Amino acid sequence: MPGMEQPRILVVEDEQAIADTILYALRTDGMLAEHCTLGGAALERMRAGPADLVILDVGLPDLSGFEVCRTLRTFCDAPVIFLTARHEEIDRIVGLEIGADDYVVKPFSPRELAARVRAILRRARGGSTAVAKGDEAAGFTHDKDGARLAYRGRWLELTRYEYLLLAWLVAHPGRIYSRAQLMECVWEDALDTSDRTVDTHVKTLRAKLREASTGASPDGAGRIRTHRGMGYSLEP
Ligand code: CA
Repeated sequence: MPGMEQPRILVVEDEQAIADTILYALRTDGMLAEHCTLGGAALERMRAGPADLVILDVGLPDLSGFEVCRTLRTFCDAPVIFLTARHEEIDRIVGLEIGADDYVVKPFSPRELAARVRAILRRARGGSTAVAKGDEAAGFTHDKDGARLAYRGRWLELTRYEYLLLAWLVAHPGRIYSRAQLMECVWEDALDTSDRTVDTHVKTLRAKLREASTGASPDGAGRIRTHRGMGYSLEP
């Protein structure tokens, strides 16, 4: 992260192998990462001098991650990303009382987690960079090498043009594109396209986003907005 002080991240995870891969990904990304295996130790550590962000496993041997977060919130407002092994826990994580900023379901890609950390730190710094051209929309992870996209930690099963269309929108959040513009940018080498081609792909993308947002954010489909007479945009 050039031009920025190295962010300090506290990783609270009792499984050493998982902790190691997270620490490695964060350090490779230029962040300072520390590790605690217990909730009590993590709170002590945060009282001594808060980290910029906490990655917190829900299932810890002493306190639950929820308890740790609740106590942490009484003296510190550093962003918290939960690690959870169970989809049933997501409703509680996104629930108002806990105060989490994001969550990742195990198994997850450490690189993706590092990308989430960076996105949250950017947001926490109040930068408007989250909507800048070329930046990714919140909640999405774009693995350009693997040509795949994840929404809220879940990889989407996309056809080639669904992927290209969503990748374009994710890279330009908040900007409205007409159907003609999208066809030019996304379907540049396709022969048989019509206005309906874009609409059909938006429809299937919305269905897949809705599917990927179970419980956590039922409005996933609403991320792609229709602007009457103008076209589509992706909500930043
Ligand atoms: Ca655990």
